[in-house]
Formats: sequence, structure tokens, C-alpha cells
Amino acid sequence: MQFTVAIDGPAAAGKGTISKAVAARFGFAHLDTGALYRAVGVKGGDPIEAAKTLSPEDLARDDLRSLEAGQAASKVAVIPEVRAALLAFQRDFARAEGGAVLDGRDIGTVICPDADVKLFVTASAEVRAKRRHLEIGGDYDEVLRAVIERDARDAGRADAPMRAAEDAVLIDTSAMSIDEAVAEAAAVIAKKLDVVAR
Ligand code: C5P
Repeated sequence: MQFTVAIDGPAAAGKGTISKAVAARFGFAHLDTGALYRAVGVKGGDPIEAAKTLSPEDLARDDLRSLEAGQAASKVAVIPEVRAALLAFQRDFARAEGGAVLDGRDIGTVICPDADVKLFVTASAEVRAKRRHLEIGGDYDEVLRAVIERDARDAGRADAPMRAAEDAVLIDTSAMSIDEAVAEAAAVIAKKLDVVAR
């Protein structure tokens, strides 16, 4: 069975947590596509070459979750040739036998426009900055600035900008617990799985 779940949204809205939880719940494979851009961003050298030659070691670096790696990722993510070099890997992953969840910014719009389920997970910039601050520490105002700057770059770029697909289900996690957000996402997926299985 092939079944693709596309989960998009801005940084620290809860996409990663929701994606991991629903992948475990339904037995789907999970790909955090942001890690691909982060790995390209921190690799240095020519980003197009880095995207074309990305290795498992690049993806295993322990500095990929830092604020700097996030900013570096969103800078290389505006380059169309970088996005093109990462496209086939993501599309292949989406067709994994047994189902797949991909989270990112353009999964429902560009990578998997035919995904079975599309979710757009969002939250206010302040709530997202608070969560990121708890995760990585540092100065809260700097984290908030970085979140706002990254949103603007991701939503404003010409190629594959971050936006909700027209047929995406919106989940605003600003006032939700993790369990509530996961339950809402899982309910949307379960409903569609039920339809597909009939
Ligand atoms: O999701 P995460 O915060 O790890 O993503 C890091 C950056 O990678 C994003 O800010 C965005 O610029 C880029 N990205 C993207 N398309 C994706 C996933 C991430 O452009 N599908």
C-alpha cells in the first residue's frame, strides 16, 4: 500500500513532533525534509554541489538542529538548483511501500501535490519562538527575530514558497498540547485511510 501524508508549516509549529507521532501510530516511514536543507546549509562550499552529493554522514551531523543551521538552511533553500537536486529523493521516499509521512514547507504544494492527506500546521510566531527557545536556549528575543526572519524568507521566495495547499487541513497548535495536536492530525489520517481501504 502507498499512502502519503504531507505535513507543512513554519518552524517550531509542531510539524516534526506530529509527523513522528503519526508515523509511529500508523507504521509509516518518516522523512524530515528540513534536515536535507539544514545539511546542505551547514556543509559549506557550493550549496548546489552539496545538495547533489548529500550523504548519510551529512544527515547524521549533531549540529543540524541549531539556530544557525536553520538560518543557513533557509538561505540555501531559495536556490532552485538546490531544491531540484533534492526533489527525486523526496518523491521516491513518498512512494515507500507501507506509507510515508514527509514534513517540510512545500510537500503538499510541490513535492507531493497528490498526497492522500495534507496538513498545514501553524502557530503564532511568539508561541513558536518560546518552544524553540526551550529547545535550544539562548536569548529569547534573538530566537523570535530568527523565527520571524526565517518565516519571511521561506514564504517570500520565488521557488516553492511555504504556503498551505488549497486542499490542506489547517491545524493551529498555538493553544494546543502536543497530545491534542497529534490526536487531531491522527483523526484526519484515520478518516482518509478508512476511505482508501473501502
Ligand atoms: O523544518 P526545518 O526548520 O528543519 O527547515 C529548515 C529550513 O529548510 C526551512 O526554514 C526552509 O527554508 C527549508 N525547507 C524548505 N523546504 C522544505 C523543508 C525545509 O525550504 N520542504
